[in-house]
Amino acid sequence: MNHPENATVFLKDVARAKWHDETLWIVREKRDATIHQIPEWEELRELASQIKDHTLSKLDFYLEELEKNATANGIKVHWAENAAEHNQIIGKILEEKNCKDVVKSKSILTEECHLNPFLEEQGIDVVDTDLGERIIQFLKQPPSHIVMPAIHLKKSDISAIFHERLHTEKGNIDPVYLTHAARLHLREKFLQAKVAITGVNFAVAETGEFVICTNEGNADMGVHLADTHIACMGIEKLIPRRKDLGVFLRLLARSATGQSITNYNSHFRSPSPGKELHLILVNNGRTKQLGREKFRNSLKCIRCGACMNTCPIYRRSGGFSYGSTVPGPIGSILSPGIDLKKYSTLPFASTLCGSCSDVCPVKINIHEQLYEWRQEITKAQGSSLKGLSMKLADGIFTSPLAYKISGQLMRASLKTLPDSIIYNPLNVWGKGRNLPELPTESFKDWYKKNRNRA
Ligand code: SF4
Repeated sequence: MNHPENATVFLKDVARAKWHDETLWIVREKRDATIHQIPEWEELRELASQIKDHTLSKLDFYLEELEKNATANGIKVHWAENAAEHNQIIGKILEEKNCKDVVKSKSILTEECHLNPFLEEQGIDVVDTDLGERIIQFLKQPPSHIVMPAIHLKKSDISAIFHERLHTEKGNIDPVYLTHAARLHLREKFLQAKVAITGVNFAVAETGEFVICTNEGNADMGVHLADTHIACMGIEKLIPRRKDLGVFLRLLARSATGQSITNYNSHFRSPSPGKELHLILVNNGRTKQLGREKFRNSLKCIRCGACMNTCPIYRRSGGFSYGSTVPGPIGSILSPGIDLKKYSTLPFASTLCGSCSDVCPVKINIHEQLYEWRQEITKAQGSSLKGLSMKLADGIFTSPLAYKISGQLMRASLKTLPDSIIYNPLNVWGKGRNLPELPTESFKDWYKKNRNRA
C-alpha cells in the first residue's frame, strides 16, 4: 500500500480529479453555512468531546451497562473480539434461520470486517440498500468515502451501470429517473429478505437502545420488513445517557452533509413482537488503540466524514488512494494502528494544515496525531535517506559558516549541473515542481548592500 503511487493513478484523470476536489469542497461549504446558524456550535463540539473522553475513560463500565440494559429489553447481545468472530456470529444466525437473502444498510464496520465477501462465500445474497453502496456493490468496489460511498462516480457513470444492471434507458442521467429505478429494484429485495443487517450510529448505555441515522430510510425499511434485525457496532459508538444524543445528532448531520437534521434518526430499544433483535459489539483493535495514549482520542470519531471533505490531500487523491476502509485524515491515524508497515505512507498524506482538526465535531486533534504517527514510523523504520538528509540539513542550518558556504556552493553548482540532477525518477521532489530562478547573491549580501536605501 503506497499512498503517493495510488494518488498518481487517481490524478491521471485530471478532469475527474478536479471535479472530485470541487464536489467535496461544496459539501464543506454546505457544512460551514449550516454550522453558522448555531451560535453555540463551539460549545456543542466541546461538550461532545468531553462526553466522548469521559465515555472512553470508563468504556468497560458503560459497555456492561449497555449489555445489561439491552438484554433486559429483549435484545440478544453478542461480543466479537475481531472481524472473524463478528462474521461468524452473523453467519451462525443466518444458518439458524436458513436465510439466503439479506439486506444491509450502510455500515463502515461491516466493510471493515469484510462481511459481504464472507457471506457471499456461504452462498448468501447480500444486498446493500443504501443507494451509493448499491452502486459500488454493482461495481464490486469498496466505498471511497464513509458518508458518500460513491462520491468518486459521476451521474454518467451511474447511468451506464444502471443501464447494464437494471436495464434503464441508455444515456439517461436524470437523477430522479435513476433513483426511481434503484427504488423499484431495491423494493423487491426488501420484500424477499428475512434478515436485515444494519450499523449503529450511537448506543445509549443508560437505556440499552441504539440509534441508526440514514437519509434514505433504507435501514428502517429493511428492519421493519424482516423477521430478524442484526445491528453491528464498534465498541466506541457508545454514549452514556439518552440526553447526550441531542448533542451528537446536531453535530453529525451538520458536519456530514450540511443538513440541520438527518432524515431518519431511528431508535431501536427492543424487538417487535415475534421478531428478533441482535446487537454485536465489536472490538477489532479498538482496545489496542484505547491503550495508546497519544492516539486514544481517535476513538471519539462519529464517522461524519467532515475531515475528508476539507482535506486538500483527500480531495485531490480520492478515497481509494488510502487503501483502507476509512480513508482521509481520520483513516490515516486509525490505519497505522492496525498495520503500521502496510499503512506507513498514510500519515504523510497530509499538509498538516490542521483543517481536519478544525472541522472535527468531536475535536479530535487529527493533525497532531498524524505528526505523532510520522515520528513513530520514522523511529520504526530506522535510518532512511530522509533521516540522513534531515541530519545534514540540521548541521547546515545550525552553523552560520556551513550555511554560507553551502549557499555559495549551491548557487554556483546549480547553474552548471545538468537538469537531470533535479529532474530524475529517483528525486520525487522534482516531480511537478520547478526550481525558482537562482539569485546571484545571498540575502545577507543583498541586505548589506540595500539596508540604507530609503
Ligand atoms: S475524525 Fe472527526 S471529522 Fe473526521 S470523520 Fe471522525 S468525527 Fe468526523
